[in-house]
Amino acid sequence: MLETVDFYREILDNLYDGIFFVDTDGRITYWNKGSASLTGYSATDVVGRNYCDLFKPLDKHGNNLCETSICPIRRVLESSLVNEVEAYVCHKEGHLLPISIRIAPVREVEQHFVVAVEIHSSNSPRYAMRQRLEELQEMAMHDPLTGIANRRFVEISLAARLEELRRYGFSFALLFTDVDNFKAVNDTYGHSVGDRILKMISATLAHSLRSFDVIGRWGGEEFVTLLVNIQPADLFTLSDRLRRLVEKSMLTIENGETIGVTVSIGATVARVGDTIETLVERADKLMFESKRRGRNLVSIELQEG
Ligand code: GH3
Ligand code: MG
Ligand code: MG
Repeated sequence: MLETVDFYREILDNLYDGIFFVDTDGRITYWNKGSASLTGYSATDVVGRNYCDLFKPLDKHGNNLCETSICPIRRVLESSLVNEVEAYVCHKEGHLLPISIRIAPVREVEQHFVVAVEIHSSNSPRYAMRQRLEELQEMAMHDPLTGIANRRFVEISLAARLEELRRYGFSFALLFTDVDNFKAVNDTYGHSVGDRILKMISATLAHSLRSFDVIGRWGGEEFVTLLVNIQPADLFTLSDRLRRLVEKSMLTIENGETIGVTVSIGATVARVGDTIETLVERADKLMFESKRRGRNLVSIELQEG
């Protein structure tokens, strides 16, 4: 039994940024390494102490969450529903730490009711991605079907990157991605399955990028990706990895059939003097080169123009 506990403890220690357990009285019963490095408190500092008293979580306006509204942990204990909140908690060194908290009800072995709390610092990539999506939704810059950025957002980002390139010489790359034979997918399986395929591709691409890269839906079955901070020598490897990940993505439909698609990619490094139009057109031409060569391929062009 003890060995099993140690086994899970090791998993929890290594798998999560921060995770801890709280019992029905709000007392911390388990505290992993991630929680310690995030907050500065070690397990011996916190185990047995009351979570609200110790961290005094605040909402973004600085109001104490456990006093002004119902304590988010108590709410989960009472409702048995998962709760997610953004909060500031007090670091051991005194400063306030913006974190993302996810609280889930779980049952311990001896049937004691506890909650598991997962915390992420605001600079973790996962947090940054979610923040970005929320911002896009607020600004009407996301594509409603796929949930990724829309063309307008890509154009605004492109303008900013081109300006940075002109002023400071920060290079970046642009990928133009077009789904292969997509008309046949719609004709064979129907438009709504086609839509689900577009969502699948978008999710695969979005999850394979770093938080500061940009992926957006350019048009129907076309996507534009901006890769910043990239060495030109790595462009092919990165683009080909994305191509392969899409190729491996499979949608299983109601009759049990699995459907996959491939994409053709054109990738190019931005040049001083490029406009949005010249840059996108160059990547688009390279994408067509991949189509011409047989599809499910990447074509790149690296040299400075
Ligand atoms: P190629 O490999 O040459 O790109 O072939 P293709 O069939 O993908 O090319 P084509 O441009 O002829 O067809 C694109 C298709 O994408 C046509 C259109 O019906 C479909 N499409 C565009 N937007 C959407 C969408 O939002 N949902 C669905 N289901 N289909 C879409
Ligand atoms: Mg197309
Ligand atoms: Mg196509």
